[in-house]
This record gives sequence, structure tokens and C-alpha cells, in this order.
Amino acid sequence: MGLHILVINSGSSSIKFSLIEVNTQKTIISGLAEKLGLEKAILHTKYNGETQTIDLEKNNHETAMQAILKTLGEKGLGKEITAVGHRVVHGGEYFSSSTIITPEVLKAIEKCVPYAPLHNPANLIGITGALQAVPELPQVAVFDTAFHQSLPQHAYLYAVPMEWYKEHGVRRYGFHGISYRFVMQEAAKSLQIPLENSAFVCAHLGNGASITAILNGKSVDTSMGFTPLEGLVMGTRSGDLDPALIGYLSDVLKKDAHEIVDMLNKKSGLLGLSGLSNDMRELEAASAKGDEHAKMAIEIFVFRLAKYIAAMSVSLPRVDALIFTGGIGENSASLRKKVLERLAVLGYFVDEAANNETTRGKSGLISNQQSKKAIVINTNEELMIAMDTAALVKS
Ligand code: AMP
Repeated sequence: MGLHILVINSGSSSIKFSLIEVNTQKTIISGLAEKLGLEKAILHTKYNGETQTIDLEKNNHETAMQAILKTLGEKGLGKEITAVGHRVVHGGEYFSSSTIITPEVLKAIEKCVPYAPLHNPANLIGITGALQAVPELPQVAVFDTAFHQSLPQHAYLYAVPMEWYKEHGVRRYGFHGISYRFVMQEAAKSLQIPLENSAFVCAHLGNGASITAILNGKSVDTSMGFTPLEGLVMGTRSGDLDPALIGYLSDVLKKDAHEIVDMLNKKSGLLGLSGLSNDMRELEAASAKGDEHAKMAIEIFVFRLAKYIAAMSVSLPRVDALIFTGGIGENSASLRKKVLERLAVLGYFVDEAANNETTRGKSGLISNQQSKKAIVINTNEELMIAMDTAALVKS
């Protein structure tokens, strides 16, 4: 029997789970407990093509973890679980790879809470819930930041007083590392180049968006920084701006710095610009109907992205391929076309037919014969977590 890994992604108001058979890469059952901490928490489960939704007795993470494990037990899947793999957002400078969870590991994840005050506590609840429910199973932490621990100093240090780094951990950490690791391996396979001798610029464009320069399988520069707020325009995040704006806005809006940062995280980006939605699909539909704000939001998203692709290229000795992934990167042919049109100066030219065909689960090249290579790769963070967990458990 193959290894079955329960993958847990415990967020601030939800817990996503999936049970993955690693050899076949098949998801046996998956689900989502949502609205945790809100009025009525519910658990959706997808199994054998059927979806089931139940109300949870209490609206907290512990109840949700118990309900998930109970559901697995009822379907006779509880005994199949070999190990549990947890997504953990922030591993600071403690973790440069995935690790088996021990009391020391838990302490280090706790120490990273100030860096990710919304995410790490929720991740920890998922871990402690699972440790209580299935103490006999090995548990593994897979970090969003770990992949970027290979950044050279010139890429991770900000030009601020050195004490801020030494005493307060102020540096670029980078995120989406689980996705980047999966996608770079798939891209190397697809392009038939050895990962140990490869150079990619990879754009993960989902509701959160970032871009990474990857050399020989290692991150050498990335756009997200101390937090996921830096870099590209995102669904609700502003990405880069002049930090002096925080002082200015604090004065004119009579809000403290935390409130301004909250608005930069939750009310900005595509949502702030369009006044309509953080969702690219909705903005593309509105833009097609002539909505000027939606059109402008997309143009700004594209411009910032193209600029960053050029900047990331400088971190590499050459670029073997530009990779698009994430909900927008995998599905929006029109956005990819707009980006490549801006990148003619770097030698990228779209193959219209291939680009239009590459959506909804399809991967493949979208550049033409004269172009440098641009490719779409579907990400699968759950599978990456399951593969890491299986590898650690086996060893
Ligand atoms: P993710 O966070 O990776 O799930 O990506 C979510 C983003 O992908 C949202 O902005 C969606 O609107 C966008 N997206 C998903 N499907 C499409 C599509 N067919 N066309 C354009 N954007 C899409």
C-alpha cells in the first residue's frame, strides 16, 4: 500500500485538508472547514465525486480538526493515514527546508508569530489539533518561506540600519515557496532541462501574487518581502509603494500605522483600483463591457508584473523560461498576452493559438518559435506538501 498523507492548511478562518496517495498523486478526499471564528462554521467534504456539507457544533479550529478526522474515520480512511503534512507560512531564518515536527520545531514556529501574526497562530492550532487527535502519526511542517532562505545577502537585506536586521529580523523572507518548488520541478521536466542547470523567472499569480528568480533550483530573488505585502499588485494588496505614504496617510486619515497597513493589505490592489472586485475574472468581464476602472486596474497589474519580470531577469545569468502559474497565471490568456507584449524588448513573443488553448488545467509553452520560452505550469501546493512529508517519513 502506498503512503497516504493528510495535508492540512490551517488559516485564520478556515482549514483546508486533503488526503493524498503519494505514489499515484491522487487526492482521495478533500474538504474545507470555513467561517471558523464566525457565526456558523461549516465543513464541506468532497469524496468519490460527491460533496457533503455539515454544520460544526462549535466555530473554532479544534472542533473543525476533530470533525475532519471524524469524517475520515466514518469513511474508513482514518487508518490509511501514514503522516500529516502542515502548511506553515513563516519559518523565519530557522527553517530552510521542511521538517518533522518536534517540541523544538513548535517553539521556533511560535517565535515566528510576530512576523506572521495572522497566519502562524492559525497554523499552530492546526498542528496542535492534529497532534492531540492522532499523536501516533508523524507530523511535518512545510514552510512558505523556506525556499527563499537561499537568497543571497544582496537580495534579502533592505537598505536600512543593520541593527534592524540583527535585532529585529528585518529582511526579505519571501513567500509562495511551496508553489515555486513544485512548479520549477515540473517546468524542468516539461522543458527537458536538468533542474541543477536551469534559470527560471517564475510568476505565481493568484489572489496573492509574487515573482521569483530561480537559479539551478534555488531562489535567488523574490518580490514579496518581510511580509506578503511587497512587490506585485495583488487582489487586495497594494504591492510596492513609497513607505513615506504610511506617515502621510496616518496624518491625513487620522489612523495609526497598523490601520493603514491593514488597508494596504485588504482594501488596495485590484480591489482598491477598480472599486469593484479583487477577482481577475470579474474584472476581465467588466473591462470587456467597457468599465474603465476595471480596465485600468488590469493595466496597472500587467505593467507592474512586466516591470518585475525584467527586474528578476537581472538576478540570473540567463533565462531558460518565464513561467506563469497560480489562478490568474494558469487561466487568463488575455493577461499573459498583455504581459508578453510588454516584454518584446526582452525577446518574448506570444503564440496566440497556444496561449488561448492553455487554460483550465493545461500546461505548456505559450511563446512562438522566435521567442524566448514562456510556459504555463499548473501548481499543486497540496501535492508538494504531501511529497515532502512522505520523503521525510521514509527517511
Ligand atoms: P488563486 O489564488 O491561485 O486561486 O487565484 C485566484 C485568482 O485567479 C482570482 O483573481 C481569479 O479571478 C483568477 N482566475 C481564476 N480563473 C480565471 C480565469 N479563467 N480567467 C481569469 N482569472 C482567473
